[in-house]
Amino acid sequence: MAANTAVRQGLRPLIIEKNEKAGKKLYITGKGRCNFTNASDLDTIIANICTNPSFMYSSLNAFSNYDVIAFFEELGLRSKTERGSRVFPESDRSSDVIKALLKNLPPKSIIYNTKVTEIMIKDGSAFGIRCGEKTFLSDNIIIATGGLSYSSTGSDGDGMRFAKEAGLKVAPCFPGLVPFNIREEICRRMQGLTLKNISIDITCDDRSVYSDFGELLFTHFGVSGPVILSASSLCDPEIFRKRPVLHIDLKPALELKVLDARLVRELKENSNRDFANCLKNLLPSKMIPVIVELSGIPRDKKANMITKEERTNLACLLKDLRLTILSLRGFEEAVITRGGVDVKELDPKSFECKKIKGLYFAGEVVNIDALTGGYNLQIAWSSAYAAAMSVASKSQR
Ligand SMILES: Cc1cc2nc3c(=O)[nH]c(=O)nc-3n(C[C@H](O)[C@H](O)[C@H](O)COP(=O)(O)OP(=O)(O)OC[C@H]3O[C@@H](n4cnc5c(N)ncnc54)[C@H](O)[C@@H]3O)c2cc1C
Repeated sequence: MAANTAVRQGLRPLIIEKNEKAGKKLYITGKGRCNFTNASDLDTIIANICTNPSFMYSSLNAFSNYDVIAFFEELGLRSKTERGSRVFPESDRSSDVIKALLKNLPPKSIIYNTKVTEIMIKDGSAFGIRCGEKTFLSDNIIIATGGLSYSSTGSDGDGMRFAKEAGLKVAPCFPGLVPFNIREEICRRMQGLTLKNISIDITCDDRSVYSDFGELLFTHFGVSGPVILSASSLCDPEIFRKRPVLHIDLKPALELKVLDARLVRELKENSNRDFANCLKNLLPSKMIPVIVELSGIPRDKKANMITKEERTNLACLLKDLRLTILSLRGFEEAVITRGGVDVKELDPKSFECKKIKGLYFAGEVVNIDALTGGYNLQIAWSSAYAAAMSVASKSQR
């Protein structure tokens, strides 16, 4: 996006890309469909940014989500808007987004298979980059090297290293939008099971630190799904070092008393059946053996023999299924990286370093991240646009 903006402003940008082709991460976004922005209003976009949202006001105003849609439309990429105002290419192909971005770049404006190894800075100004033996001189350098997630796509933290070498502050990095490892093996037994409309609460030292409602997926290592990915990005990362507990309310629409009354009814209607056969109206089949086991009620106990205490404990279990969070999954499974170049080092209008003239950071390398929904790419587009416009304005002076 920075290069496209620069070309439109009459500049001749040079992109140095270490991969053999452009946009390897873009290619895998949105499950190969690329949710490239979100068609909601500015307040909603800001509300979906988890880290440093107010830093984005200026650049989002200068190049909004609607500008992004219009930009791609001009390049022949028609879009469609889906649930949650998520915007995708009409073709459902992320490769079309990459093609659109490359369409107007002059030949030879991208040098592939070339890794930037060092940013050259003198007297508080950037003046070039080194790529091994080769040197490229320029008074303006935009670093858009991404974060640390899915490093096979090329983003392995070089940009953060360049920032540190330049004496800039870099916020510690954590995987974001990522599943949880869970201690209890019941997750593995329920792997593949999706629970819609559950609520979660995360506690640390018995204190609630996060609550949400949504969809959860059990996996062989623990839990995933939208409600968990959001939690990974919205919780203070430090809590994951303290073995927090995940509480799942399987019946959030029913208060404990109401749920207990429902259990009374179910058990009455199935009075001569084994306990394990009484839960199919309440729980998905994959979950029943797990809940039966955790309830401590013998699976073959007849429903009419279940005591009030056993029933109350069962109701409490359904309202509060507890799992021990061991850790976040790693960067290789994280949709984004939390952390990166400290925004205090940058001017929000241009993303230029305050201390080093001509040095810009844009996209995921900066300590700004958002929830799923096209917001992370919007951050990348708006910050890249801001940086390129700033470079262009210098050349027009
Ligand atoms: C599986 C997955 C799905 C996602 N889906 C979505 C989605 O649908 N919508 C959304 O908004 N966001 C999505 N994201 C997040 C989004 O892809 C990123 O936030 C976005 O790509 C960041 O853009 P960027 O340009 O900053 O970094 P990147 O896209 O990571 O690009 C960085 C580029 O810099 C190159 N590079 C790195 N170091 C060097 C070096 N030293 N020298 C030369 N080149 C270098 C890399 O090779 C790479 O091409 C997804 C992420 C993942 C992992």
